[in-house]
Amino acid sequence: MASHVVGYPRMGPKRELKFALESYWDKKSSAAELEAVAKELRASIWKQMVDAGVKYIPSNTFSYYDQVLDTTALLGAVPPRYGWSGEEIGLDTYFSMARGNATLPAMEMTKWFDTNYHYIVPELSPELKFTYASHKAVDEYKEAKELGIDTVPVLVGPVSYLLLSKPAKDVPKTFNLLSLLDSILPIYKEVVSELKAAGATLVQLDEPSLVMDLESHQLEAFSKAYSYLEESTDVKLLVETYFADIPAETYKTIIGLKGISAIGFDLVRGTQTLSLIKEVGFPADKVLYAGVVDGRNIWANDLSTSLSVLESLESIVGKDKLVVSTSCSLMHTAVDLVNETKLDGEIKSWLAFAAQKLIEVNALAKALAGQKDEEFFAANAAAQASRRSSPRVTNEAVQKAAAELKTSDHRRVTPVHNRLEQQQKQLKLPVLPTTTIGSFPQTVELRRVRREYKINKISEEEYVNSIKDEIAKVVKLQEDLDIDVLVHGEPERNDMVEYFGEQLQGFAFTVNGWVQSYGSRCVKPPVIYGDVSRPKAMTVFWSKMAQSMTARPMKGMLTGPVTILNWSFVRNDQPRSETCMQIALAIKDEVEDLEAGGIQVIQIDEAALREGLPLRKSEHAYYLDWAVHGFRITNSGVKDTTQIHTHMCYSNFNDIIHSIIDMDADVITIENSRSDEKLLSVFREGVKYGAGIGPGVYDIHSPRIPSTEEIADRISKMLAVLETNILWVNPDCGLKTRKYPEVVPALTAMVAAAKLLRTQL
Ligand code: GLN
Ligand code: ZN
Repeated sequence: MASHVVGYPRMGPKRELKFALESYWDKKSSAAELEAVAKELRASIWKQMVDAGVKYIPSNTFSYYDQVLDTTALLGAVPPRYGWSGEEIGLDTYFSMARGNATLPAMEMTKWFDTNYHYIVPELSPELKFTYASHKAVDEYKEAKELGIDTVPVLVGPVSYLLLSKPAKDVPKTFNLLSLLDSILPIYKEVVSELKAAGATLVQLDEPSLVMDLESHQLEAFSKAYSYLEESTDVKLLVETYFADIPAETYKTIIGLKGISAIGFDLVRGTQTLSLIKEVGFPADKVLYAGVVDGRNIWANDLSTSLSVLESLESIVGKDKLVVSTSCSLMHTAVDLVNETKLDGEIKSWLAFAAQKLIEVNALAKALAGQKDEEFFAANAAAQASRRSSPRVTNEAVQKAAAELKTSDHRRVTPVHNRLEQQQKQLKLPVLPTTTIGSFPQTVELRRVRREYKINKISEEEYVNSIKDEIAKVVKLQEDLDIDVLVHGEPERNDMVEYFGEQLQGFAFTVNGWVQSYGSRCVKPPVIYGDVSRPKAMTVFWSKMAQSMTARPMKGMLTGPVTILNWSFVRNDQPRSETCMQIALAIKDEVEDLEAGGIQVIQIDEAALREGLPLRKSEHAYYLDWAVHGFRITNSGVKDTTQIHTHMCYSNFNDIIHSIIDMDADVITIENSRSDEKLLSVFREGVKYGAGIGPGVYDIHSPRIPSTEEIADRISKMLAVLETNILWVNPDCGLKTRKYPEVVPALTAMVAAAKLLRTQL
């Protein structure tokens, strides 16, 4: 019985690639030095897989930036503005596309399905001449071969590649990207043939788009692509699908495709796939790659459960037609548990990072082949049992409170326009009130203070005084700028989720549990392992302190339950919705404590609400329903006069506008830097609804300082659709990544623009 791994993290156990990349970008090291680090990382990953006993070891899952960009390079699909002259694509052209250069901006980046990984969006046009311009896949295959390791080269499949692309700027938006299939297939053929010549017998094509809701012409593109590849190459092709179930229609189509010799399924997120396989059957001429080890999480596999899934699959497809695999690439989980020296021993026994998942995959394959490692299985069963019964996991009171929530609706009684009237009597804000989203620049000094406090290098008193000084500076600055609703600037927070997780029960933190977000950027999600509760108030001390420094309203600043959930590694022993309700209760207590402490305006950020949206439309309503309910729970108990704001870091929510309205916040601030027109319909809905809306008036992601005229112009455009009394004036998002010399003039211009427009009303 064989084992397989869909893909592996590239960054290295200690983020070696990140540091090598950044040093190269800063011109502190040479290309040769970067390449040496990369080569060593690849070699150590392959060897690790050999040692773990993995049979089908992937190659070409390494990337200097992103696998979709690698595919763009492979196809020579470089947008003309980068001035590429047609030679083999080197680091310069590659990184110009990824990150921009002195004169050109980077290509657009967007989320990879429902993960927190971002890929570089290909820009395609009918004029583009595709050529085989990057031999990376073949080079990496050969590199492994030289080490004596035969690998399975991995490519992003042709249809998913096109479906993930966008039409280039001057090409009509209606351009059918799939019409380019005929132009790219010959290049896929070339690379597959070259891989075969180098010795590869199996090539993996990742086609995660197969789990999406596909239209019939899209499904036809798959049939076409794989018939073409079958006729023109004689290598075995493994088509990998992941992140969700395969829709039944799609399943029926792909199992019938002759060009495919093996298909991989995600049996973790794809909860219906097993029954589909049972019902429809699986063809005798194909091999089934069963993704039972979760690539999206850090939990140890429940081996005995997985083994029974594998056994039932085996009874359908036959003994030598089943390969044990991961649910998706392991790049979405942390790298190696070995480096977690600070984690509590019991919690650690419940976890498996990528390196441990390799061992799990192999243990399952061996067990299926009749060579079960009894000791390993017994240790795993013991860890699973300890997780089920540990008092650290279960908190009866929290379970009970969360269960009671489900039966009630949780809405504020008074309609939003009445609430706003009552709030205005107290707040007495001018029209077009100005505010910011929360954080002010995070300086080196602030980071030092937080770090030193954490390691007890400075006393609590020193720490509090430093943070207090910082808050005082930020308050004074906002008063000088004449902003209407102030923030304290979040100087005490390292991260908007970690800060709360550290103060809540049920969360654990890793030291090295990094996951690639994009390029060299990684995130270290908290681990939610148990029932969530709030032992004591988390932000009240700072918010009250900040409010005491000014007569203007000071916003309390919280992260909402859905965002905390979506940016963490969430426990898999109860539904996500359940965990969300528990977090919601903890945040509700915090909201009420803030209110009792005299804070009249409270912002509850739901930056990541949209991120949790399931891939399939049929599941959207259910998710949105509990997510929005979770948000409402946090604030449905406040007085009418307490103003609840929420903030979201995206503007493409046309499709979820009704859910946004259903959140019933008093004021919604949203990102708006890139897509004015799209927002129009959202604005109009906002008018009907009556809540305050603050579409960002300038882009904080760029160091560029906007002028007063430019901001005033944007506000007037918004006023053309919106009623004056509901419009707020604020930047796109928090200011923590900016520097004061950018923030001060930008906010000056913003306030000036608001004042200018007030005089014209
Ligand atoms: N309040 C947070 C901040 O300003 C919001 C960050 C976010 O939306 N990502 O930093
Ligand atoms: Zn934001």
